[in-house]
Amino acid sequence: VRIKGNYKYELGELASTLNFMAQEIVRSNQIKDDFISSISHELRTPLTGIKGWSETLTSGGFDPAETKIGVGIIAKETERLIGLVEEILDFSKLQQNEMKLVIGRVNLKELLQEIMLNVWAKAEQRQIQLQLDDKSNRTLFVIGDGNRLKQVFLNIVDNAIKFSNENSWIELVVSLQDNNQVLVEIVDSGIGISEEHLNKVKDRFFQVNHQGGGTGLGLAISQQLVELHNGKMDIHSELGVGTTVSILLPLIEQSEADEMKEDGDN
Ligand code: ADP
Repeated sequence: VRIKGNYKYELGELASTLNFMAQEIVRSNQIKDDFISSISHELRTPLTGIKGWSETLTSGGFDPAETKIGVGIIAKETERLIGLVEEILDFSKLQQNEMKLVIGRVNLKELLQEIMLNVWAKAEQRQIQLQLDDKSNRTLFVIGDGNRLKQVFLNIVDNAIKFSNENSWIELVVSLQDNNQVLVEIVDSGIGISEEHLNKVKDRFFQVNHQGGGTGLGLAISQQLVELHNGKMDIHSELGVGTTVSILLPLIEQSEADEMKEDGDN
């Protein structure tokens, strides 16, 4: 009886596990379907612009100023298209464990300053104040791929700008942690994310709405890239208050950094 009882129990457990797995497959297929539909739309928008302007310009009869506008739009939309496709390829490489990092010594604060310069104009346009609060007071070196780390921080700061209202602020806080680690917090006072959406946002593909365009892959890519650098990424948010993305990375000692000098900088 006991054997039978155990057997029954295991069957019941198996059934509920299978049921759960089936639900997960349905959910994951639904997410992928939504992704394909939203990414097709995202890809189509710049293509429509490129097609329209190239046809218009081919028909001729435009003065140099008009031609310059048309060519400018084609160049901008092409750039956008390349960005979207690169994001999809990065995501796919990460999924298949095929992302290759070009490892070197990365000066983290220099990298963050570069990010600030990169997005300065975009923030200024929307009257968003950007500041770097460095609580570490020392040079911070990490081992990693400078371009990939730049991609991570750029994506997060870009999101912070995209999802902030005019006349707000964004702060990058750098602090030393135990075990020779550094914490970088990207704090915004933007629209925030509700509790209901926060877990989904951490999942790939999900966008609260399509307000900012994009693929919905940025955070998932960033998280996986941080993990490839033996770090951790976390996101906290409150609707209407703002969002904080925290990135914890292991540091290397100055002596190790000096030894790596020859291997090239970021
Ligand atoms: P994408 O920016 O391409 O949509 P992400 O993975 O970077 O993809 O972000 C997914 C979604 O998470 C965004 O569409 C947005 O809804 C939400 N999100 C991300 N960062 C923020 C932020 N700082 N404030 C509010 N919402 C955010």
